[in-house]
Amino acid sequence: MASSAAPWPARATLSRRGVSRTIPGVKACGDGLVFANDVLCQSQGSRTTTDCRIGLGTDCHALGAGGRPLRIGGVTVDAPFGVAAHSDGDVLLHALTDALLGSLSLGDIGSWFPDSEAENRDRDSSEFVVAAVDELRRRGWQPVNVDSTVHLERPKLGPSKEQMRQRISELLRLPLEAVSVKAKSGERVGPVGRAEAVEAQVVVLVERMVSESPTG
Ligand code: MG
Repeated sequence: MASSAAPWPARATLSRRGVSRTIPGVKACGDGLVFANDVLCQSQGSRTTTDCRIGLGTDCHALGAGGRPLRIGGVTVDAPFGVAAHSDGDVLLHALTDALLGSLSLGDIGSWFPDSEAENRDRDSSEFVVAAVDELRRRGWQPVNVDSTVHLERPKLGPSKEQMRQRISELLRLPLEAVSVKAKSGERVGPVGRAEAVEAQVVVLVERMVSESPTG
């Protein structure tokens, strides 16, 4: 069946690091940018070379009586215990921030937002994520997709995972399908299994934004 979608340009010239090359089937985007996501979509399975890097982030916070409300992925989770932290203690957003910074070897969340500084006390961790992704974009990079796992014995995260995906996709300006949030219990083993801690692991792929001058 023929597609009703408007045809894409037959080719476009990409310029990067002083070198120009013509790639077939590339889509021109608004501000003179071509996003590699689109390049990949149009390459019909043959991956077009682009600059990509990956970042890894992990985090852990203690759980217990008192403390702050349990906040994960920008979502408040109803739980009979709190989390110990200087900021809002969002383990998933902290790991995400580290993954974003790590993708470009920019250090870690502790060096950017020290817990010794009063301005970071009680801070909404979404601000850390936005600052990190803004720094990536300032340097000419953007996130492509995120995969993550939250380790928590209880409560079960259930529908909250979809809310977390939604919030992270908003913070990173990514489509929902580019954000994955998974959850695992600790099987009653270790700090997570004894409900003493919540942990998160995040992997993020980033790509260099490419300048573009279409040739028709
Ligand atoms: Mg943390």
